[in-house]
Amino acid sequence: GSTIGILGGGQLGRMLASAANQLGFDVHIFCPEDDAPASRAARQTWIADYSDDAALRAFAKSCDVVTLEFENIPASTAKAIADCGVALHPGPKALAISQDRAEEKAFLNSIDIPTAPYEIISAAADIPGALERVGGTGVLKTRRDGYDGKGQSWVRSSGDADIAWDAIGAAPAVLEAAIPFECEISVIVARSSVGETLSWAPPRNAHVDGILSRSIVPSGLDKNVETRAREQAMKLVEALDYVGVLALEFFVLSDGSLLANEFAPRVHNSGHWTPEACQTGQFEQHIRAISGWPLGNTRRLFDAEMRNLIGDQGLVDPTSLKPDETLTLYGKRDARPGRKMGHITRRIAPRKD
Ligand code: ATP
Ligand code: MG
Ligand code: MG
Repeated sequence: GSTIGILGGGQLGRMLASAANQLGFDVHIFCPEDDAPASRAARQTWIADYSDDAALRAFAKSCDVVTLEFENIPASTAKAIADCGVALHPGPKALAISQDRAEEKAFLNSIDIPTAPYEIISAAADIPGALERVGGTGVLKTRRDGYDGKGQSWVRSSGDADIAWDAIGAAPAVLEAAIPFECEISVIVARSSVGETLSWAPPRNAHVDGILSRSIVPSGLDKNVETRAREQAMKLVEALDYVGVLALEFFVLSDGSLLANEFAPRVHNSGHWTPEACQTGQFEQHIRAISGWPLGNTRRLFDAEMRNLIGDQGLVDPTSLKPDETLTLYGKRDARPGRKMGHITRRIAPRKD
């Protein structure tokens, strides 16, 4: 059989591993953590740092193709895998762009995908002028390594500059205009090795404290808005010459216009409802794409809602599950506040439209 390697040991890796197993692949995980969620769904795990070249090489040589579930792996890691002659999907271009919010926004704008106005910030002293140029209220975000709203601070007046700069750890940043969005949606899109592109219906996403809380389909938005978002996601994966699944997040304004927020070069939390509600789910699709297989149909069959189980919500009582709910737990032992422990997808009804 063939072996798929996954960089990263979290829940996304675990769900990718399950999908790969179902398709007949063996899975090898590479991650720094002992006893990671993905490891227990895999045949073998290399526990080593992403900078451990010897371990990376041994891992890469044991795999037919390598993918990732965590985009902040160093560029040197991607290079070590390429040097072994093993394909890495997604490749270094998508990784490099998505790892830096300034590069990411510049790239999106360069292919006519609008984002919030933003300014590059290298010091606290840059903030007051930048704040005025973005319209008086903004969100300061570290260029690198932020997730789940970490590494962000709102800036409402120039007096907030020093506090915000310290709050994000005094790191290179962007200041984005605060967007008074009507709602947020995301497009999960897949591109195959021969350039076939398919997306899923965009879910409406609700966040609590910067962390995704719920994703709902249908979004309730005008079909034109959804179509434009899906076209933009398709344009992005083509421009990146991408292979695999990618998620592009959007702010939707009251006039129906779209501003792209960020993209993730991987399967995405806002696509966790797809296995239960669609003909092909995001995890299976990603494995098909990176294996050079044809894509599966992304047709949505159900109206559905996915809710994240965060912190002690993950200590769910299984007797409270409803018949139309599917529970996915990530096998994490410690239910720390803010930690994603699992999710529940509810099939609300068969799709009607
Ligand atoms: P993740 O990668 O987990 O989605 P993140 O830490 O990369 O999160 P963002 O997606 O940039 O962070 O922001 C998290 C949430 O904060 C957004 O989904 C949105 O609800 C809110 N937010 C971010 N930027 C803005 C903005 N410019 N204006 C208004 N709200 C914003
Ligand atoms: Mg992000
Ligand atoms: Mg986000």
